[in-house]
Amino acid sequence: MPLPASTHAKGGENPVWVYSFGPGCPTPPLDRNLLGGKGKGEAEMTAMGLPVPPGFIVTTEACVHYKYNRLSFPKGLVEQVEACLVTLEKQMGCNFGDVENPLLISVRSGARVSMPGMMETVLDVGLNDKSVLGLAKKLSNERAAYDSYRRFIAMYSNVVSGVNSAAYEDALKACRKREGVQFDIGLSTNALKELCQEFKHIHNQQTGQEFPQEPRDQLFRAIKGVFHSWDCDKARAYRRFHGFPDDWGTAVVVMAMVFGNRGDDSGTGVGFTRDPATGEHHFYGEYLVNAQGEDVVAGIRTPHPINKMQALITGSNLPSLEETMPEIYQQLEEVGRILEQHYHDMQDVEFTIDNGKLYMLQTRTGKRTGFAAVKIAFDMLREGLIDEREAVKHVDAHQVTQLLTPIFDMRDKVMASGKLATRGLNAGPGAASGAAVFSSEKAVEYQKQGKPCVLMREETSPEDFAGMVAARGILTARGGATSHAAVVARGLGRPCVCGCGDLVFDHAKHEVRIGSNGMVLKEGEPVSIDGTTGQVFFCSLQTKPSEIIQVLIDKTKRPEESELFQQFKTIMDIADKYRRLEVRANADTPQDAAIARSLGAQGIGLVRTEHMFMDKKRLMDVRAMFFSDSEDDRKAAANRLMPYQKEDFLGIFRAMHGLTVTIRLLDPPRHEFLPHTEDEQKALAAHMGTTLERVKQIGESITEANPMLGHRGCRLGIALPYVTEMQTRAIIEAAVEVSKEGSEVLPEIMVPLVATKKELEHQKGLIDKTAQDVFKKMGKEVPYKVGTMIELPRAALQAGQIAEFADFFSFGTNDLTQCTYGISRDDAGQFLPLYVEGVFFESTHSNMQVFDFEPFQTLDQDGVGELMKIARERGRRTNPHLHLGICGEHGGEGRSVKFCHEIGLDYCSCSPFRVPVARLAAAQAAVEGQSKK
Ligand code: ADP
Ligand code: MG
Ligand code: MG
Repeated sequence: MPLPASTHAKGGENPVWVYSFGPGCPTPPLDRNLLGGKGKGEAEMTAMGLPVPPGFIVTTEACVHYKYNRLSFPKGLVEQVEACLVTLEKQMGCNFGDVENPLLISVRSGARVSMPGMMETVLDVGLNDKSVLGLAKKLSNERAAYDSYRRFIAMYSNVVSGVNSAAYEDALKACRKREGVQFDIGLSTNALKELCQEFKHIHNQQTGQEFPQEPRDQLFRAIKGVFHSWDCDKARAYRRFHGFPDDWGTAVVVMAMVFGNRGDDSGTGVGFTRDPATGEHHFYGEYLVNAQGEDVVAGIRTPHPINKMQALITGSNLPSLEETMPEIYQQLEEVGRILEQHYHDMQDVEFTIDNGKLYMLQTRTGKRTGFAAVKIAFDMLREGLIDEREAVKHVDAHQVTQLLTPIFDMRDKVMASGKLATRGLNAGPGAASGAAVFSSEKAVEYQKQGKPCVLMREETSPEDFAGMVAARGILTARGGATSHAAVVARGLGRPCVCGCGDLVFDHAKHEVRIGSNGMVLKEGEPVSIDGTTGQVFFCSLQTKPSEIIQVLIDKTKRPEESELFQQFKTIMDIADKYRRLEVRANADTPQDAAIARSLGAQGIGLVRTEHMFMDKKRLMDVRAMFFSDSEDDRKAAANRLMPYQKEDFLGIFRAMHGLTVTIRLLDPPRHEFLPHTEDEQKALAAHMGTTLERVKQIGESITEANPMLGHRGCRLGIALPYVTEMQTRAIIEAAVEVSKEGSEVLPEIMVPLVATKKELEHQKGLIDKTAQDVFKKMGKEVPYKVGTMIELPRAALQAGQIAEFADFFSFGTNDLTQCTYGISRDDAGQFLPLYVEGVFFESTHSNMQVFDFEPFQTLDQDGVGELMKIARERGRRTNPHLHLGICGEHGGEGRSVKFCHEIGLDYCSCSPFRVPVARLAAAQAAVEGQSKK
């Protein structure tokens, strides 16, 4: 079997660090991990015969080597780059740095996953004071040559020399003013020439070095600059949010430049093969005539719509590409079709038109909203573009929660029409209401204080990422449907309205004004945005349930009235068809149980009984049950509680008829039930017929240094057996009663925090005896099971012994994670963020992420997962019918669910609104598992 290219490159005698692509070159290994997404896309499009400028790709492995070897290139890299450069010169028929006919290149970042705008790229590398003259000849356009040169100087200074780009923007602004023009495009050739001089001067001043004139020097330094951008703050923040590790590295894609800025037959644009906000099937995008690279997304000029449909959606009256260059547009649509056929997915593309010829500069799977994801999967399935298995994989599991999030009530919006301030582009659907904040720092501040906010910016840049995460919604004044704000918001699932042209910021006064109607909003005042319609209200608005919830839970809409529901149902039904893992929910009340069932839960995996105890009406008896001095009084209190407990279980069993309900016996430490104020203590004393002093004394006697590791879980049930007895009676009596009503009940009683076999033996003995008593008394039996949580490392190791007394294990991965790491979740805030963020590591001179992810969010497969596998092994050896599940927070997290599937658990259990996520993730795991075989 041939080695995968990546291993090959690492292990071989002469590792390959660089791959050429283009005419006459063999197709490089199409491995995204090695070439990065961008590099793979270029190489693959080339292989498909699409028009792509040739180039070469420096691998992610070279970047990783660089990062961990004190910022030095691996041996052989320089020579390989030189060789690929020679190939590229041949392909292009011109030479790098040539004075007559220069080859220019772009040096681009591209990791294995797309990180939009988070890393750096340098365009027009190879220009210097001489080759710029050659470029002018080559393009027969002196202006375009100097336009490219000034862009190159600014980008290079910023990316490679770390000069703040503000200096260049200011100089550019001043130049426009001098020349009396509004846009860069109005600058004359002479003005651009002067600007180049000025830019070089800025560079020299800021860095104390001459702007490098040697093209090879520029190239190698640009490669380093791109490597460095992998570790810049915004890129790191982005990876933290998405849970991507720091050691993937970025590839560097080097490509021959094509020129969108050489006149009116040229241009540049970006597009999606379908609408990324709604999923509608039409080409979606924007372009600019006579422009290069980032101009479209940077919001420098208002981009033109790509087609008439786009003009309609955005209300733009600028001529579209479909109208101005119909043939190019047709070709672009055709490329889009070919790409969708090939990738079986919606693509996000970059293109440039150079003198009437189309070039594809990038393709990647397009980021989309949850709404669009479901619609696209649904449509592509019907179009026959994908099969059911692919449809399941098409929707990111976590994105389905977007379809369940609230929307604004139509009537409220009508009522608030006086507060309708303006309208923008509906870039990310959903409703958001909160305080207006004008900076990302403010947004983060608000979030820390638990106050919902909406981030309002002229436009967003990658630096705003943290603020966009913190805000409920995002509103911008500038930028179109493919602007940074729109793309990132869609990725985050945040409602987003962008390009509200008549929003005028006055940062000095901390307010925004609407140009057309003079309405004013001060920072901190409420604002509401509807990302589905693009409306902006200067007031707060109530939200109402999503259509899916209206159909499934509130029953206020009929299924056939909602297209969204039908799409959702189609995808979820397919998921159910393919998954093996059962999905249950964690629910403590009949209401939650009913919601969970509507959302597809096949049972309740965890009912926490302490929630019922915390109820104000019962608290006094709960306290008496724990703290009364005489055992008789304690038992009497327990008996008074029994009917309430039973009532709760009756409700849950009825809601879940025919399905399993797993009830966990009392778990938390007793001190959680103790009164804190003197008034409450007095009341309790009266209730127990004792003195205030005695109550205080009891309080002190049960105070624990570390309650999480103290007298809780089955340790309570063993010390206070009447609690287990009372709870069992309540469960079994309720079960028998519901069964007498004619419904099927399948109760499971779960003993918490077991570490040893005898603990479970003791509790199971008590449970079985109590159940038999109830059956005798009520004259009817129901089947029930007894099992335990596996939430202590010792329990996992002793699973073989414990399984003698267990019908099932449920992995309580919250406690199991705490105890495996020895990290108390409540105290982790002191250092866990730092661990995930990373610390400086002397040996490699780079940032070291101590933890790749937050183990309370994403299951630690190596450690906690290993314990789960051991428990499964040993438990099943003793009891081959042992049923296995998970009920920790992780049961609703996509990657963890996949792991549970892989290690052969029977079910996962999560909060009700996560049920669709788990259903989809379980199906994806099953489908991926099958395709691996
Ligand atoms: P990002 O990942 O931020 O999109 P890119 O590497 O894609 O950065 O490049 C930035 C811009 O430069 C894009 O608009 C891209 O289309 C353009 N670009 C990149 N390479 C070339 C090239 N060889 N010729 C013309 N434009 C290019
Ligand atoms: Mg790009
Ligand atoms: Mg626990």
